[in-house]
Amino acid sequence: MTLEDDARDYHRRTPPGKVEISTTKPTNTQRDLSLAYSPGVAAPCLDIAEDEEQAYNYTAKGNLVGVVSNGSAVLGLGDIGAQASKPVMEGKGVLFKRFADIDVFDVELDLEDPDAFTEAVAAMEPTFGGINLEDIKAPECFAIESDLSEQMDIPVFHDDQHGTAIISGAALRNAVDIVGKDVENLHVTFAGAGAAATATARFYVSLGIPRENITMCDINGVLSEARAEAGDLNEFTEPFARGEADGELEDAMAGADVFVGLSVGGIVSQEMVRSMADDPIIFAMANPDPEITYQDAKDARDDTVIMATGRSDYPNQVNNVLGFPFIFRGALDVRATEINEEMKVAAADALAELARQDVPDAVVKAYGDDPLQFGPDYLIPKPLDQRVLYEVTPAVAKAAMDSGAARKELDVDEYREELEA
Ligand code: NAP
Ligand code: MG
Repeated sequence: MTLEDDARDYHRRTPPGKVEISTTKPTNTQRDLSLAYSPGVAAPCLDIAEDEEQAYNYTAKGNLVGVVSNGSAVLGLGDIGAQASKPVMEGKGVLFKRFADIDVFDVELDLEDPDAFTEAVAAMEPTFGGINLEDIKAPECFAIESDLSEQMDIPVFHDDQHGTAIISGAALRNAVDIVGKDVENLHVTFAGAGAAATATARFYVSLGIPRENITMCDINGVLSEARAEAGDLNEFTEPFARGEADGELEDAMAGADVFVGLSVGGIVSQEMVRSMADDPIIFAMANPDPEITYQDAKDARDDTVIMATGRSDYPNQVNNVLGFPFIFRGALDVRATEINEEMKVAAADALAELARQDVPDAVVKAYGDDPLQFGPDYLIPKPLDQRVLYEVTPAVAKAAMDSGAARKELDVDEYREELEA
């Protein structure tokens, strides 16, 4: 059976889809029912009316994330619309549940207009402890996220932007150490200037890479000051415009220490890899086909080529599932009002640090017994590594408390033990 047919069958099996609601309190007796609903339910309602924080004690809000999309940039499939995006959003809910025991309502909104979309999501604040924006196209996704973050007192996080930024940022921290370079001196070239690339470039600045060392290219080549002046860029790409002259990706890669691909498959040649600085770091993350294949990049030169992709069949898969479940888990558990830069950096640091630890046998076995040891082919933990939950989550919660984003304090050591149990 092909993967496609298998997937159709998987989704169609009774009951259709991948999620259902289950209840968490007894519902056997008449008494139970009058506690769950009228008339008993009035008591918690009135308590919440007096103090809205009580919603976290009386309802599922604190463990409930809205995965919200308009279906305008779904996986690599493009603008397939809200209805067709539903299997993806249900799937995201499955991952939240499986990795961090977070419940999800998937919400597909048939709204193209960014202002109408923003208004609809903002109105859902009473329902959710957090909002994961998903598969919304650039450039609309930028304003949607920043407007919602401003308007809402719960975390709003566009995973397609920040997930990649954080996970690849963790890989970058480790890769840079392995090749013995300094973050402050790195020259980084991006292919792509869309949702994932601009967020990743901004995050790399938070990790210490000087903004002026970053060169971004879109389909028309380098984002130059000339293009900015010509009105060719938007407020999110303009901060990365550099240089007077226009140029191509090929020019921008010559001498670069790091290549970050968040564009389309197959646009980087071995020749371009050969033009890079010593021991180049190549994160070719276009899905499903990377900008250059793992093998072609490795074979292009004799020095160390550190390579990551979005694929599970090669080392160093940059997979967002290493981030969002644990970032939301930590944010929800301290009732964070946002997911700020400090929390994102803490997540990346915790992932980078975990990759330096010995890998338990169970994890090695789950990945076919290939040795997993810190080095060029193991920069970041594997998604099925249980330790990610109790290393990344407390780090995020701590960063939320330290940065003033938390509405609830908890003891980090005790919290970690609870997660491990
Ligand atoms: P997006 O917003 O549509 O951005 C795509 C960008 O690539 C645009 O800036 C586009 O330029 C540029 N581009 C297209 N063809 C190009 C070319 N030949 N040379 C240079 N740049 C080119 O999409 P996105 O959501 O950021 O995703 C981009 C890619 O990253 C996709 O392949 C996606 O699968 C991948 N991705 C991977 C991960 C992961 O591995 N974890 C996570 C997120 C995204 P124009 O604006 O000029 O068209
Ligand atoms: Mg996505």
